[in-house]
Amino acid sequence: MQKDQLFTRRRMLLAGAAALGSAGTAGIVLAAGGEETARTAAAPVPGPQARQALKPSAFRLQPFTGYGPPRTAPRKLKVRKKPILQISGRGRRMMLTFDDGPNPDYTPHILDTLARYDVRAMFFVCGECVADNRELLARMAEEGHVVGNHTWTHPLLTTLRRKEIRSEMERTSDIIEDTYGERPQWFRAPYGAWNRAAFQLGAEMGMEPMAWTVDTTDWMEPGTGTIIDQVEDGAAPGVVVLSHDAGGDRSQTVRAIREWLPYLIDSGYRLTVPARRM
Ligand SMILES: [Zn+2]
Repeated sequence: MQKDQLFTRRRMLLAGAAALGSAGTAGIVLAAGGEETARTAAAPVPGPQARQALKPSAFRLQPFTGYGPPRTAPRKLKVRKKPILQISGRGRRMMLTFDDGPNPDYTPHILDTLARYDVRAMFFVCGECVADNRELLARMAEEGHVVGNHTWTHPLLTTLRRKEIRSEMERTSDIIEDTYGERPQWFRAPYGAWNRAAFQLGAEMGMEPMAWTVDTTDWMEPGTGTIIDQVEDGAAPGVVVLSHDAGGDRSQTVRAIREWLPYLIDSGYRLTVPARRM
């Protein structure tokens, strides 16, 4: 299938999703029937995830291939002081997020499981991984998933200068637009380490800051059973689940979702993703 056809299909999916919710609110409109507003709770601290910073593999630097032509200006957003931690609204809804990919060894298996249960998720991707796996972004678009910006090289933003943060974010939005078909509307700081510049630049680039409610702790590779327990014990209306499809050996993550996803569905949860702001 041609790339253009993929993008056309994606646009049709988005148009359908947008029709379900009313647009123009300051909050977040979720798909799956009706308007939802995300709310902000206590800010996450740069907690256990920050330990990932010690892994040299997280700092792979790749040659920069240059900026493309000028892009359309994104809609500017209100600058938040805290990231969004959960979704709200009626019913038992949860949102699944996968960070640090795409990765050819793990992402396809996760996409297969999501497809098997007809579930859409958010993928917070790193630009350098997208550059190596462009076809996986096309697959995400084709299958209706939402892609967010997780920087180019996964740095600890709190150690960078503003112009470096801008470059990390901008390059990633550019390659997402090239491979997925549209610019991301969501941003997640690596290690959950946010700072003022990240909130300001994200808003300037039309991206809302999205954190999470429940960490599966899969980045610690604690065993498949522990990951399953984290999700099943943490399940509750509004919960945003954090998993990883790259950044280490994610075979436990791949096995775990085959167990916990049908459990959530059997428990009456609907897994949703944000609809488009129009
Ligand atoms: Zn990450």
